[in-house]
This record gives sequence, C-alpha cells and structure tokens, in this order.
Amino acid sequence: MALRLKPGRHRVLEGCPWIFRGELLYHEPPADPLVDVLDADGRMVGRGLYSPTSAIAVRMLTFGRETVDLDGLVLRRIESAVAARVGLSSARTGLRLVNAEADGLPGLVVDRYGPMLVVEVSFHPMAAMLPKVVDALGQLPGVRGVFERGNLSVRRHEALPLEDRLLWGELVNPVTVEEYGISYEVDLVGGQKTGHYLDQAENRVAVASYAAGRTVLDVFAHTGGFGLHALRGGARWVTAVDSESGALDRAQANALRNGFQDRLRVEVANAFDWLRKTSRDASPYDLVVLDPPAFTKSRAAVKGALRGYKEINLRAARLLPPGGLLVTCSCSYHVDLETFIAVVGSALHDAHRTARLIEVRGQPVDHGSHPLLPESRYLKCLIFEMTT
Ligand code: SAH
Repeated sequence: MALRLKPGRHRVLEGCPWIFRGELLYHEPPADPLVDVLDADGRMVGRGLYSPTSAIAVRMLTFGRETVDLDGLVLRRIESAVAARVGLSSARTGLRLVNAEADGLPGLVVDRYGPMLVVEVSFHPMAAMLPKVVDALGQLPGVRGVFERGNLSVRRHEALPLEDRLLWGELVNPVTVEEYGISYEVDLVGGQKTGHYLDQAENRVAVASYAAGRTVLDVFAHTGGFGLHALRGGARWVTAVDSESGALDRAQANALRNGFQDRLRVEVANAFDWLRKTSRDASPYDLVVLDPPAFTKSRAAVKGALRGYKEINLRAARLLPPGGLLVTCSCSYHVDLETFIAVVGSALHDAHRTARLIEVRGQPVDHGSHPLLPESRYLKCLIFEMTT
C-alpha cells in the first residue's frame, strides 16, 4: 500500500527516516506494515515500516525505487552492523551491536554482554520482525541467550507489552564484561538501561588518561564506571556518589574485582544535596565527573533541566582548584551541544571561576547516529580545565 505526504516541506524528503502521522494523507491504515511512501505529487520517496499506534507513523527502510524483501534486508543489516563492530570486541565485551536507525534497523537496539544479547524494541512493526531477528542473533558465535528488556516507557505509545523475557537460549545473569582493562559485573535483569551505560565507554577511557595522581569525585556514579577507569589511570582515590544504594554496592564489588577496593569510597546520597553540603574549603578533589540522568525527556521541560545542569556544574566548579578538571555530561537530547556548553559556561561564571573547554566528546563508535536524526545524538561529554 502507498501512503502519500501532504503538500509542503518534510524532513523525509531530505533523507530523515521518520514521518510523523500528521505529515501523511490517508483514509485507512495499511494492512501490511511495509508501505511505499509517495510525495504530494505521487512520486516515489521510498519504502518504510508503518506503525498503527505511534506518533512516528512511518520509519523508512530504503529511499528511491529499490524493492524490499523485508526478511532479507533485516538479516543483511544485522550482519553488517555486527561486522562493523568486530574490531572493537577485543577491548570491550560489552558493546552495542545494533543501534536502530543508525544501522538501518528502526527501533531495534541490540547490546552484547559477553555471552548474552539484550534486545530493546521501540517500534511496533519491528516487534513483529523479532522472531527473525532472534534467529539471526542466536547464530552469532559465543551467544548463549537473547533477553528482551521490554520495560521501556516508549513502548506504551507503541502498544507493546512492558515485560522482560528470555527470547532464546538460556539466561546467564549476572554477566562479567571487560571494558578497556576494567571488568564489571552487570545485572541484565535488574540493572538500569540494558544493564550498563555502554555509551560512556570511551569517555571513561578519556577520564582515565587525565586521572594520574588526581583525587576524583564521581557524581551519579551508578556502578562506578568513571571512577574505576580513573583508578586504572592512576587516580589516588575516588568518591562515588549515587542515590541508588544497590548500584553503589555493585560499584564496590567491581572495585574489589579490579583490585581497587582500598581506593574507592561510596556515598549514597542525592547528588544535589551532597554537592550543596560539601565544603569547598576542605575539598580534596581535583577531578570531578558529573554524569546525571536525562533531566528532561520532553522539550517542555528544558528550562527546568537547564537549571539542574547549572546548579550541579556551579557546585562542582567551586570544589575544584585551578588546574582541576571538570568532566560534565548530558544525555538529554532536547538540550543541544551549544546550549549545554553555554549553561556550563554560565555556571562557571556564577561560581566566579574560569575554565578552558579542552574536549568536546559524544557517543562511542558503537553508538553511531543517523546524520539526519538529531534525536539519535543525545550524549555530550565536555572536559574543562579550570584556569582560575
Ligand atoms: N556514570 C554512570 C552512569 C550514570 S547514570 C556510569 O558511568 O555508569 C545516572 C545515575 O544517576 C544513576 O545511577 C542514578 O541512580 C543516579 N541518580 C539519579 N538521580 C540522582 C540524584 N538526584 N542524586 C544522585 N544520583 C542520582
């Protein structure tokens, strides 16, 4: 079945893979999810998958007139996404194998954790493709099980069930993964995201490269990702702050596993309160990492999010001496890079401090993004060196 765009401008005409429901003219929903998309004059734009439930009605698979054998296309794209990550897998046994639109597979994320694959599906038609996807994933060497994390809020809009389930093989949990010389135990069932924040892997390595001889404060530490890499890089010691005690228990177990138990201290606390009460005169820290959760998931809440970023960055800057480093992250895609730099800059100003922005970092290579989908570029990681 063909769906036609309304007259006017559309991002899809420039290559963006998403079409919102309001951009389309049609009278009845298509029966088959594989649809042809036509422009307002009836010319072929390409082919995509139609979702009956979501606001993003169509996600494109191909542009132009190419015919699509859906099963074959999905399998080929999985193969090429996996092949593109082969070079990474010697340094990391936890990594993203498939990153949705960036890998031509709308709404499908596959993370590898050693012998386990964790799948997340956030687009209704992709759920119907899952048996084929799982068959292909089960063939990958060394895979013992494929587990689905279904408890994602976006799935509500897709009318997809919210349960987690084992899709294939056996459930190995927890699993141990290696990440550039640090090993972590990851809880695939109870942990946040798909178990570990894989998207910070390379930013942790950057922190390790600055850490020698420093005293580190890792705020929003979760299972200790940044702190452990700082210790590997020669940090004297690390304080890890998080509001979730279970995550910090894992951070301590991870420190033990890597032989750093004497150099990691954990504090269960609300980061805002902790930063507010920590006295700057007595601060021993000369490297602070801030890696908060997304402060906003909607455009409407950006103002509040910016206030949150400003507050934690201002307080962190006050703790640092000249020459100290501030590593500050944002994973809210509604806050773009320039806005984030500006809010940290103004936090520094309000703290009566100056700093040089020495690195602007983002997502690791296994989390590549679609060039015309800014929504797929969410992670920002800035490194500032305090000058006064
Ligand atoms: N830096 C971590 C990932 C951080 S994810 C890593 O490298 O793996 C964000 C973390 O912030 C989560 O662990 C969450 O428990 C914690 N968190 C959320 N709100 C918080 C708050 N107000 N105070 C302290 N921690 C908070």
